Amino acid sequence: MSRPDELQPLFRSLHSIKGVGDKLAALLTKFFGAPGGQEAIVLDILMHMPSGVVDRRRQVGIAEAYLNQIVTLKLHIDRHQPPPRGKLHVPHRVFAHDETGELSLVFFRAQGGWVEKALPVGEERYVSGKVDFFNGQKQITHPDYIVEAEKFAELPLVEPVYPLTSGLSSKALAKLVRQSVEIIPELPEWIDAETMRQRKWPNFAQAMREVHLPENPDQGQLWSPARQRLAYDEYLAGQITLQLVRSTMVAQKGKSRTFNGSITSRVAAALPFSLTDGQNQALEEIRADLASPDRMSRLLQGDVGSGKTVVALMSMAAMAESGAQSALMAPTELLASQHFKTIQPLAEAAGLGCALLTGKMPAAEKRKILAGLADGSIHIALGTHALFQSGVAFHNLGLTVVDEQHRFGVHQRLALSDKGRDTDLLVMTATPIPRTLVLTHFGDMAVSVLKEKPRGRQPIDTAVLSINDYGRVINRLIARLGEGAQAYWVCPLVEESEFIQVVSAEDRFAELQKVFGDQVALVHGRMSAAAKQEVMARFKANEIKLLVATTVIEVGVDVPNATIMIIEHAERFGLAQLHQLRGRVGRGSQRSACLLLFKEPLSETAQARLETIKSTEDGFEIAERDLDLRGQGDVLGTRQSGMPGYRVAVPDVHRHLLEFAHDDAKALMQRNPGLTGPDGEAARTLLYLFRKDLAIPLIRAG
Ligand code: ADP
Ligand code: MG
Repeated sequence: MSRPDELQPLFRSLHSIKGVGDKLAALLTKFFGAPGGQEAIVLDILMHMPSGVVDRRRQVGIAEAYLNQIVTLKLHIDRHQPPPRGKLHVPHRVFAHDETGELSLVFFRAQGGWVEKALPVGEERYVSGKVDFFNGQKQITHPDYIVEAEKFAELPLVEPVYPLTSGLSSKALAKLVRQSVEIIPELPEWIDAETMRQRKWPNFAQAMREVHLPENPDQGQLWSPARQRLAYDEYLAGQITLQLVRSTMVAQKGKSRTFNGSITSRVAAALPFSLTDGQNQALEEIRADLASPDRMSRLLQGDVGSGKTVVALMSMAAMAESGAQSALMAPTELLASQHFKTIQPLAEAAGLGCALLTGKMPAAEKRKILAGLADGSIHIALGTHALFQSGVAFHNLGLTVVDEQHRFGVHQRLALSDKGRDTDLLVMTATPIPRTLVLTHFGDMAVSVLKEKPRGRQPIDTAVLSINDYGRVINRLIARLGEGAQAYWVCPLVEESEFIQVVSAEDRFAELQKVFGDQVALVHGRMSAAAKQEVMARFKANEIKLLVATTVIEVGVDVPNATIMIIEHAERFGLAQLHQLRGRVGRGSQRSACLLLFKEPLSETAQARLETIKSTEDGFEIAERDLDLRGQGDVLGTRQSGMPGYRVAVPDVHRHLLEFAHDDAKALMQRNPGLTGPDGEAARTLLYLFRKDLAIPLIRAG
């Protein structure tokens, strides 16, 4: 079941391509963001899609080359006019003509005589670039291409344009792309012939060729048959992976668990609060899953602070009651140890063994824990994916809880080795995911949702105000701080530059200092971690009343006494961000307020966003609205949401293909669950091409 031999050339190191040394390989690895920091491979170049196409096919004479047009001209070189000595700001000018007119070629700071060499007087050259004017004369400044007459074929008349990074020129990348396209092997076809015919799709290799080496500009566009096919391929690979995960999760028989309440009641008694209705309901759903003979595969969704940890703990306690162990896997060691701090005392109070296993712990300690896992004296194990590495053996693992926080997708679930996959599974996510996306990203997992916040939390009054009301805002703020409240003042998001954002925060800080004196402090992303922490500590200790901040406060800040959140230029923030920011207040028992200051004019969508935030605190409703307002592409693609990005598919354009891919993957897995025979082989090839190797071992034999 290993990777088919014919794919080997695409999985070779970039070094196998002419012109790639260590430096370029490292640069490309970083640029392509190869999974898990592995070295980028040839395939990564193919998957780096053009962002547009330049059309150089306009081969007219000089007379018909118009301003701002990209043209390709055959020029006779007449004369060079280098800049006078020492005058670097004067360009090197080359005069040329054809039968229809005259034109000059302009080069700034051209040193070392390369221009003379590239354009010898008396010879002919093909030159391609954009036409501009200077003193009423036609010229091309810094032509894109200069080639000798007999090398015309080397000039790409239709040229894809790629996203680049510093140190990577478009010409260097084009060379790599050309070589990579050439080595794409013949592959079995995973799309049925009828579909191919109907949609006029080329095969994979041909599609890559058309996208990367287009013969006409249409071939390189997002809606071209070639690009659509590749987008569909990417979706299909993702959907087959989901189907595989689902079938392994759901198809296998689980154990029917029984509970007598002896341990869960002790945990409940140790809690300093009683469970909310929502928590109780989620627990009931989980217990029903565990009691049924089918394996559990359930998603528990709830905003940060909604109380998922307790639900996980109670589920694990129930598992212990039925005589089996549980493991909770967190995405980072920090989160794992946070969970441990919360869970360990409660578990102990109920007489349960609980341990944290991390990669860094001393060998002796680790051995002790491994022994406890193997003999069953540890009932609840916490850690990162290290929990499922070889060398860790459980006595009787019954439940795996995966805390995905803001990361998504099947990757964590795939990382569970066989030990984890044979157990009941509970996945927790902290970012509300719209229902439609749950369907495509979590297959058919059952879903429990924690909607209400734990008791004692007050609703937040949200108001939307124009910045023109600044004076009134300040007066209210003076009054509220006088009453003992604390407030955040979040400065505008500046997309273009973090630097400008800091400057604007500093300006606002200086402005507010005039009013509030040393009651106000500033925190921003450019400060050292220590300086930030110091400011935050003083705010938490109530030595500072007003904290002016950039978006650094979005995550991980917990100051219950802070009850006012002012967001300046709120119209620039996305819904998810506004929701996160507002979540910084309303954490104590006091009533909180959130003030969204906007600057006119307000666009229609900005207005809709602010209205949404004002009208609801429900993260799920906000996420659904976000989807409506921005389209799936953004919700899926942004780093904030943590959803896996697509490399080829652009959801805003190709979304309809996701539905097809979903249905087709389902049909394939029903027809051929073992992925055997020719169409099974082809599907496996597809999975390798889109780096879903982790899914391959999930394919059931036979
Ligand atoms: P999540 O993991 O969903 O982000 P947590 O489980 O960490 O949220 O809970 C957030 C906070 O709420 C914790 O301090 C927790 O002790 C508290 N909490 C959880 N459930 C309740 C409840 N039913 N009543 C009061 N406080 C609760
Ligand atoms: Mg949590």
